[in-house]
Amino acid sequence: MLHAGAAPMTDQTTTPSATTLGQAGYIALEDEHAAHNYHPLPVVVASGDGAWVTDVDGRRYLDCLAAYSAVNFGHSNPLLLDAAREQLGRITLTSRAFHNDQLGPFVTALAELAGKDMVLPMNTGAEAVESGIKVARAWGYRVKGVAAGMANIIVAGENFHGRTTTIISFSDDESARKDFGPFTPGFRTVPYGDAAALEAAIDENTVAVLLEPIQGEAGIVVPPADYLPAVREITTRHNVLFIADEIQSGLGRTGATFACDLVGVVPDLYLLGKALGGGIVPVSAVVGNRDVLGVLRPGEHGSTFGGNPLAAAVGLAVVKLLATGEQQERARVLGARLHDGLTGLIGRGVLAVRGAGLWAGIDIDPKLASGRAVCEALLVRGVLAKDTHGSTVRLAPPIVVSEADLDWAVEQLAAVLAELAAA
Ligand SMILES: *Cc1c(COP(=O)(O)O)cnc(C)c1O
Repeated sequence: MLHAGAAPMTDQTTTPSATTLGQAGYIALEDEHAAHNYHPLPVVVASGDGAWVTDVDGRRYLDCLAAYSAVNFGHSNPLLLDAAREQLGRITLTSRAFHNDQLGPFVTALAELAGKDMVLPMNTGAEAVESGIKVARAWGYRVKGVAAGMANIIVAGENFHGRTTTIISFSDDESARKDFGPFTPGFRTVPYGDAAALEAAIDENTVAVLLEPIQGEAGIVVPPADYLPAVREITTRHNVLFIADEIQSGLGRTGATFACDLVGVVPDLYLLGKALGGGIVPVSAVVGNRDVLGVLRPGEHGSTFGGNPLAAAVGLAVVKLLATGEQQERARVLGARLHDGLTGLIGRGVLAVRGAGLWAGIDIDPKLASGRAVCEALLVRGVLAKDTHGSTVRLAPPIVVSEADLDWAVEQLAAVLAELAAA
């Protein structure tokens, strides 16, 4: 394995532009011409295979972010690439004005995987959330009988559901909201993990509760084990929809198909995205039963790219990968190994470790270093990871990562912490 810091490979296949520009050149182009809405680590990735990526200078890195779980099944996954390539050669876009031969098999398989009747296909995660909100409101007016324009939806503090204007309307992250108002009304925020507060916020106009079963961007926050079952019981009793945003937590990451499975909970609607597109194309979906998703009528909602044949072909290949349960089992077993390793670092620069399956939020002692500083030091050692909320580092390697590589990543973190402590 060649890691950052080692001599670059001489790779005959390197593209001319890669050799002419170099890492600093690509970063300069982005700095000059891409909007500065991200603060990337200084690495320019050129290719990827499984859990590893290679930069423009030939250095290799273990990808412990996996594009926020969009690459759960690894970079260049051969099964998913084959499905994409085959479809690329046939047809990629028809629009929903016509039927295509990929959508039907995809929605059938996804509905079956989720144990539901119907799928509303979209593209990005934010679109799935927006669609879930619209479906819940329409259900509220047409089925529950809420007075026109009065519907409210209960959400959790510290949530992350995406970046559209409506979604940031119920975020409590100031950096996601400041100067982007005015905001969409109709949302009530209660503390995450507090079922009593959630029940107290419900009134006759409440149509849905929208939650992440594990809060990803908040730092891989796992609620108390009785929380989601209590939310299920409360929402059922009050005739309120339970919408689980499984865009990051779902599709194998936590060692189960859905994070809700870990506590035996079945929501009314699943919101899916990220890994559903296999890291190849954006594919998202709202998945639910006919009594809810059936409220949508022709012409009321849509998306030019939603349900396109390429997305459906890749989505179907993803569902087939998950249908055997192997990915989930691997995430469960490797996840236990990862959490064992990380727990051993508590007291050695780590304050706490949270998570489930192959997903960990690691609270770094802020007296030692910021999460960003730890990620920069990991980068030098050949590990890609991302900080969140100041002092938390998250790890979410592709599920295809090997045991040895996973252990190696934990060793690199231990070494970084020891280095920072000695400095
Ligand atoms: C990433 C994410 C979204 C938004 O998905 P995009 O594809 O970035 O729009 C929504 N909800 C959760 C929980 C996410 O992690």
